Amino acid sequence: MRQYPPDRGWEVAFAGRSNAGKSSAINAVLARRALARTSKTPGQTRLINFFDLGADRRIVDLPGYGYARAPQQERVAWGPLIDALRERHCLRGVILVVDARRGLAESDLALIEWAGPPERAVHVLLTKADKLTRSEAAETLKGARMGIGERASVQLFSASSGVGLPEAQRVLESWLGLTHKKTPEASGEATGAD
Ligand code: GDP
Repeated sequence: MRQYPPDRGWEVAFAGRSNAGKSSAINAVLARRALARTSKTPGQTRLINFFDLGADRRIVDLPGYGYARAPQQERVAWGPLIDALRERHCLRGVILVVDARRGLAESDLALIEWAGPPERAVHVLLTKADKLTRSEAAETLKGARMGIGERASVQLFSASSGVGLPEAQRVLESWLGLTHKKTPEASGEATGAD
């Protein structure tokens, strides 16, 4: 915990079950190809990574949960680290990445609970939406909204196809207090360019 950056500015945490698509979502939203490591082996992200975006803005990549293969010792060690993170004033919000085909698990609802008071925003990305038909996607979104209620906002997302990418970027930018300059020619789509 002593290695955490000073509690200043704003940070947004990304959380999700192992293999949900969290690393891909971070890379897509930040328009960076390999900032967060994606992998074909579930349970690979075992550290809490802080990505410094400059001007005291950070993304926090939490270890994927719900994967039994992570050594017990490691899982026990995360608890206090993650709880200490929650105490940080700069933690503006949590983006919860959920595999749209699998839906919300108890562990996802527990994470929403973990976020604490409603001042700390929670936004759910139902990712891998490219794997769903239009009607499945609509059903999934409806089901997730019902499961979550008022506590969090929800959207469909795909790191592969870009579905929901501008919406997710807008959420992140507004939480981090980064204003998006619009030119008259701008199409309204985020380009990922600085
Ligand atoms: P993490 O463990 O939650 O960080 O998940 P990763 O980002 O490493 O993704 C896990 C697997 O899902 C990888 O094989 C990714 O290629 C795949 N994946 C991630 N996002 C998407 C998506 O939007 N669409 C599809 N079809 N596959 C995805």
